[in-house]
Amino acid sequence: MGESLNTETYDVIVIGCGGFGSSAMFHLAQRGLKVIGIDQFHPPHDRGSSHGETRIIRKAYFEHPSYVPLLHRAWELWEELSESVNERLIEQRDLLMAGPPGSEVIEGARLSARLYGLPMENLTAAEAAIRYPEFHLPEDYAVAIESTAGYLWAERCVASHLSSAASFGAQLRHNETVLSVSSSGTGVQVQTDRGCYSAGAAVVTSGAWTGQLLSDYARHISVLRKTLCWFPVTSENWIRKDRAPLFFVDAPESQFYGTPSVDGATIKVGMHTGGEMISDPSGLSRQVTDEDERPISQFAQKYLGGIKPQVSASVICMYSMTPDGHFLLDRLPELPIVVAAGFSGHGFKFTSVLGEVAADLVQRGQTGLDIGFLSANRLSAR
Ligand SMILES: Cc1cc2nc3c(=O)[nH]c(=O)nc-3n(C[C@H](O)[C@H](O)[C@H](O)COP(=O)(O)OP(=O)(O)OC[C@H]3O[C@@H](n4cnc5c(N)ncnc54)[C@H](O)[C@@H]3O)c2cc1C
Repeated sequence: MGESLNTETYDVIVIGCGGFGSSAMFHLAQRGLKVIGIDQFHPPHDRGSSHGETRIIRKAYFEHPSYVPLLHRAWELWEELSESVNERLIEQRDLLMAGPPGSEVIEGARLSARLYGLPMENLTAAEAAIRYPEFHLPEDYAVAIESTAGYLWAERCVASHLSSAASFGAQLRHNETVLSVSSSGTGVQVQTDRGCYSAGAAVVTSGAWTGQLLSDYARHISVLRKTLCWFPVTSENWIRKDRAPLFFVDAPESQFYGTPSVDGATIKVGMHTGGEMISDPSGLSRQVTDEDERPISQFAQKYLGGIKPQVSASVICMYSMTPDGHFLLDRLPELPIVVAAGFSGHGFKFTSVLGEVAADLVQRGQTGLDIGFLSANRLSAR
């Protein structure tokens, strides 16, 4: 298809329509704005950061207590979206967090729970082993159980945001790559491999590719290649809600997380820390190697029971990391461009609320929720 000038103008162009962009499209369109989303693939897809069946949502946030109010709203919005599409997108499930004495995960989660009055049960490793027999934790580990946790059906969340956005008139251009975004100060121009678009504002939500589009932010976002592995279950406990929580283990080897069986046959395990840094997300190798699987298999063998230690399926995904591990969510100074990126491997659960926040930033330049700790300034100051 030859290049064309799209003579239609839009209120907002959303660049990248994955986890975050699909939500931004929905909230903007729901407010009556004329929205177009552009994605280089056909979301939901498995080339970015929002695939692999499920994502954990939890509220006693060890990373920073300021995320908690955002999480209250995120959960509410996931429930609302589930209701409006008539499909369960979010499921409650207890979360077991475990770590050695002084673990940042346990200490941070307890702090958030204390500050926001969230329910949290503290167990010893021996007590945890009685309730959850498939966890083989060292005896000195502290364990915290959070009931305000659960999981999201990731691809279905993206699809539901997109279909809901479409029901409010948003258009999606897929298999079209944005080459540049520029602004004269009062509006934006977006050049793609198929044409040129104008709008009052843009929301840049291009995940691992954000540094390529916004070169000023390239040095603040590094991309990591990550592996997810599934293991066949041999114990019924993994299927029982009361016997198999979600988990996040702060082990000396690395931090690992996982989802109990949601298909009656396998559990999913991933490694949160570590990962190979890559320079070009489009050139990412998706071939899973023995080396990719090894640390996850070793964790599973050492800390989990009731599974076959052989990996039955695996996928490659990407984290977009900021230097401090907190998101980048801001309106760029003097420009009608909102950027939401650098979700640092923990952003999916927030996409519902941050789409709403992005809509606030587009419309009013501010939002009622505290997002100061996610500002672009803090990164520029480093
Ligand atoms: C293995 C793994 C496990 C995770 N587990 C959790 C978890 O349990 N809980 C949690 O909350 N979070 C988790 N995360 C993090 C979370 O999934 C991500 O933070 C989130 O999905 C990021 O969404 P995004 O919209 O930024 O990226 P994406 O969903 O990748 O969307 C970016 C989109 O932009 C498009 N795009 C990019 N460049 C262009 C361009 N130039 N032109 C057009 N389109 C473009 C891409 O095609 C893509 O569709 C996990 C991530 C991974 C990889």
